[in-house]
Amino acid sequence: KCILESAKMLNLDSSVDASLNLQSRPDVQTCTYWKAAIIWEGMFDPRLYDDMHKSKGSSVALTVFAVGRYLDAYLHKFLNSSEQHFMVGLPVTYYVFTDMPEMLPDIKLSPLRSLKVIKVKKNSRWQDVSMTRMKSISDVIESDIRHHCTYVFCFDVDQVFTGRFGSEALGDSVALLHAHYYHLPKHLYTYDRNPNSKAYMETGDFYYHAAVFGGSWKSVKALTEACYQGIMEDKQNNVEALWHDESHLNKYMLLHKPSRVLSPEYCWDTNIGYRSDIQVTRLLWAPKHYETLRTP
Ligand code: UDP
Ligand code: MN
Repeated sequence: KCILESAKMLNLDSSVDASLNLQSRPDVQTCTYWKAAIIWEGMFDPRLYDDMHKSKGSSVALTVFAVGRYLDAYLHKFLNSSEQHFMVGLPVTYYVFTDMPEMLPDIKLSPLRSLKVIKVKKNSRWQDVSMTRMKSISDVIESDIRHHCTYVFCFDVDQVFTGRFGSEALGDSVALLHAHYYHLPKHLYTYDRNPNSKAYMETGDFYYHAAVFGGSWKSVKALTEACYQGIMEDKQNNVEALWHDESHLNKYMLLHKPSRVLSPEYCWDTNIGYRSDIQVTRLLWAPKHYETLRTP
């Protein structure tokens, strides 16, 4: 019902979903109030989505940052696992941002897949490394991605693909439900509640996780530009949003609703333990050793 109604409302993603027979699921929320689908296992036929995107000629850019110790700690596993599970069958270009291009692991890429390395400066504060990603992503979309790829997906590097992360996740503007918050009441969402920050919001629709976001190159460019602008304004005003780029992403998604939402299957933390609604894990949080990763 959600799918048919939203198809009528001309959400392009939803008309595709209607034609590919996207299903609902009784035990979870599968549609937002603005009629964007929330994608869970069991709702879609993977082959239909893959065939549709192959025939449309869709291609995907994946951006990932591996700066300082994160390179050695995570990049190899991230890329190897994404070769196994991320958008298999579609053309994929990795954009790896690092301060040490010469230290990149040797990864064997499948046909149709390639990798570009972009050198970035290493900020001394991890918060700044995280936040300046928004600027680097919008720059590379403008200079390169927009000429080569239909879609862009942006990932934290401290994660490992463990199951299909496929073309069903593609859409105009895609946000991810944070694994730790999707089942909690809204008053526990950790939005930035400092009125002096550009990320300020009292309440919202969901708590989105900044470890994964994506969409058409145009949407992701608009999102990353707006978030970076908010981050810079905050700096001028001597404030920093509670969860940095994630706070700004949540504010942006409040004002510009995503056309597609991914369930926490698309970025799960096994520390949460068993949940009956999580029928498959597609991407898992990797263990974090903040003491060694974040000290200079
Ligand atoms: N990052 C990095 N080097 C750093 C800090 C961050 O490469 O020193 C990148 C990396 O891709 C990381 C992302 O920024 O996954 C976000 O930081 P982090 O994962 O530490 O944040 P958390 O997920 O813990 O909020
Ligand atoms: Mn992370």
